[in-house]
Amino acid sequence: MRNEEMLLIPGPTPVVDSIYDALASETRSHTDARFAAIYRSAIDKTRTMLKTDGEVFVIAGSGTVAMEMALVNTVAAGEKILVISQGYFGDRFIKLGEAFGIEVDVLQSEWGKQVNPDDVEQRLVKGKFKAVTITHADTSTGVAANLDVLVPIIKKHGALVILDGVCATAAMEEDMSRTYGDSHHKIDVVLTGSQKAIGVPPGLAIVAFNKTALDARAKIERVPAYYCDIYNWIPIMNDPQKYFATPPVNLIYAYDEGMRLVLDEGMENRYKRHEAFGKAVRAALAVYGMTALAKEDAAAATLSCILYPEGMDDAAFRASLAEKGLIVAGALAHLAGKAFRIGHMGNTTEEMLEKAVLMIGDAMNELGYSVDPAKAVDCFKELAYVQVT
Ligand SMILES: *Cc1c(COP(=O)(O)O)cnc(C)c1O
Repeated sequence: MRNEEMLLIPGPTPVVDSIYDALASETRSHTDARFAAIYRSAIDKTRTMLKTDGEVFVIAGSGTVAMEMALVNTVAAGEKILVISQGYFGDRFIKLGEAFGIEVDVLQSEWGKQVNPDDVEQRLVKGKFKAVTITHADTSTGVAANLDVLVPIIKKHGALVILDGVCATAAMEEDMSRTYGDSHHKIDVVLTGSQKAIGVPPGLAIVAFNKTALDARAKIERVPAYYCDIYNWIPIMNDPQKYFATPPVNLIYAYDEGMRLVLDEGMENRYKRHEAFGKAVRAALAVYGMTALAKEDAAAATLSCILYPEGMDDAAFRASLAEKGLIVAGALAHLAGKAFRIGHMGNTTEEMLEKAVLMIGDAMNELGYSVDPAKAVDCFKELAYVQVT
């Protein structure tokens, strides 16, 4: 690997050499047939990954653009959404809704916990909601959403399910062909970005709409957007030689390679690997007296928010890790200084995480704690290595 540091933050995540190579391929015209073939392949692979028969969009933008695209094409001004928020990124939908004159109702969990499904049901009974937003893995808290429970409740009430997969897609199951109970109870929109569990550099917004979501778009007379109006992009996604706005040619090369790696590994293998990584990292860090903010049954497979033991100096700890070549992220909002976040997703490997566990133990010992890195590494190894099919 060309990387000099281990970038174990909740995105961007480590980029492998074959993706860098793709990124460095010759920049061609965005209407060149050779580029269009790669763009088409990248879109097709995305469709395969999400198992959707709807429309897929892969455009320049960050995950936030994907969130905006998902919302403005399904919900009109004056209509109502319910935001299920399990942290900072869930809350982002409140701001987005407000920016577009959408009425927003919110169910917020205590940080580290999941929203109670009974509360979702009660809220949905009360009003007519066009859509409900769910953050699959909230990057601020490391809390995962329980789709098995939430999707059936939401669909029963006739609302669209908009799933923010920015920190989950390609690592946690998001199967748009899957029915949750009834035959028409499916996830309607999945949105994501290139730089997290997909493992490609930042810069791409990826969104998939199923037929129900496309019907919702058809009913909106005027979408309050231009770049984010899916009707401007459908012709390009179906024929990438057409022009609407210049696609990020080199990033599309990189994304196509990233998606090749995703599909080669296989979705089931990826889900299992990430599940094992999450469990192994959290168990290993528990050996150091560090506990995850989320309880194990609510914890995301892709990243963990880890509470420091008493008295830990956040800045000194992360500086010591950086010196060793490991970059982790600080915690957000009221947890800043009290926790750190570690990503374990995308093209991150067992070897990297094993090294990270060791480095974290070493850093703690340097800061005056007395922990056993060898024991933590053993604990990690026992859980991290999964049998792949
Ligand atoms: C990172 C993240 C976003 C925002 O993505 P950007 O690429 O930073 O715009 C949104 N939702 C979740 C769950 C995220 O993890």
